[in-house]
Amino acid sequence: MLSKRIGIDLGTCNSIVFLPGKGAVLNEPSVVAVGIAENKVLAVGQEAKEMTGRTPDTIRVYRPLKDGVIADYHVTQAMIKYFIKKAVGIFSFFKPELLVGVPAGITSTEKRAVVEAGMSAGAKAVYIAKEPILAAIGAGIPINSCSGHMIVDIGGGTSEVAVISLGGIVTSSSLRVGGDKIDRAISNYIKQKHNLAIGEQTSEEIKIKIGTALSSSASNKNLFSKEADDPKNVLRLNRSGSSIDSVNQKNELEKELEIRGRDLISGLPRNFKISSNEIQEAIHDRLDEIVQIIKAVLRDTPPELSADIMDKGMVVSGGGGMLRNIDELISRATGVPCFLADESLLCVAKGTGVVLENLNAYKKSIMTKK
Ligand code: ADP
Ligand code: MG
Repeated sequence: MLSKRIGIDLGTCNSIVFLPGKGAVLNEPSVVAVGIAENKVLAVGQEAKEMTGRTPDTIRVYRPLKDGVIADYHVTQAMIKYFIKKAVGIFSFFKPELLVGVPAGITSTEKRAVVEAGMSAGAKAVYIAKEPILAAIGAGIPINSCSGHMIVDIGGGTSEVAVISLGGIVTSSSLRVGGDKIDRAISNYIKQKHNLAIGEQTSEEIKIKIGTALSSSASNKNLFSKEADDPKNVLRLNRSGSSIDSVNQKNELEKELEIRGRDLISGLPRNFKISSNEIQEAIHDRLDEIVQIIKAVLRDTPPELSADIMDKGMVVSGGGGMLRNIDELISRATGVPCFLADESLLCVAKGTGVVLENLNAYKKSIMTKK
């Protein structure tokens, strides 16, 4: 009998619903707005996100998965229900089977909460798989081979690093630093250095538009270093898409952006120009924390697998991976080549699609439903 299969990347920032054969059919912020008095869900996803920072006292806007764990079971359940309904319709004839990607460090209580949320949303069965594994599959890594592969997923709330071999995680570590804390570092920096208060959405916009993991002088150096002369490395830089870009826009290495905030002294709105080098300075410490856990995982990795990783390089997934030059920063800091996955934001979702189409081949990677 035909049955619908649905993959869900339940991210701290964005949730993506993936249908095998169709692709990502829904991509919305993992945000829920709740009416406090009646304790009722008022809006989910994009609509709820737009309410952030604009609500009266009677409405609360939640991100139920903020740090990569389920902080609020009921809100998460409402969110999963909404996403499934929106993606496949209310009157779906067949009860779907769900595959949900969860952080590698999830507790068994949280796992149960995800399964229950899926079942109560009308699923026939709920499978759970660890996000780093799904991200690796979605990035096209042959995880079932007996060779070591390293994946670094930089999301909104967390960064997860894992070494995978033979379909399972050999070493891993996760850190509650991701895009959100990078945004916060930007707003703190602007507050301290320039006496200007900016909102959450503005700092994210700054990061996406002009953020960079390397200052213009640092990324410039690379162009003239011996490393870049090596054809193998040029290929690598080309794949990462960042440094080659810089060749074409030598004068644009340092980007500037005009932003608006509230002056902390006068209390009035003020325009201000901020440069990418300043953003690099603002976020450097946060990025260093991510680099440190990558190094820690490399240190814990058995030597045979390290050799494989050195050979093939590590792959970065997640929306945070799209920060300009982050792959280059990681490869310089660790000495291991680093590539950004294609459509890095979609890796986990694509991974759910691949697994759902080949449930047998990936049996080992699925944590049994409970
Ligand atoms: P999660 O899995 O936790 O939901 P995602 O993988 O969806 O997280 O990534 C979300 C994060 O990616 C956010 O912090 C967002 O600001 C960041 N992001 C998205 N696009 C870019 C970009 N072009 N440059 C830098 N960061 C980005
Ligand atoms: Mg994610």
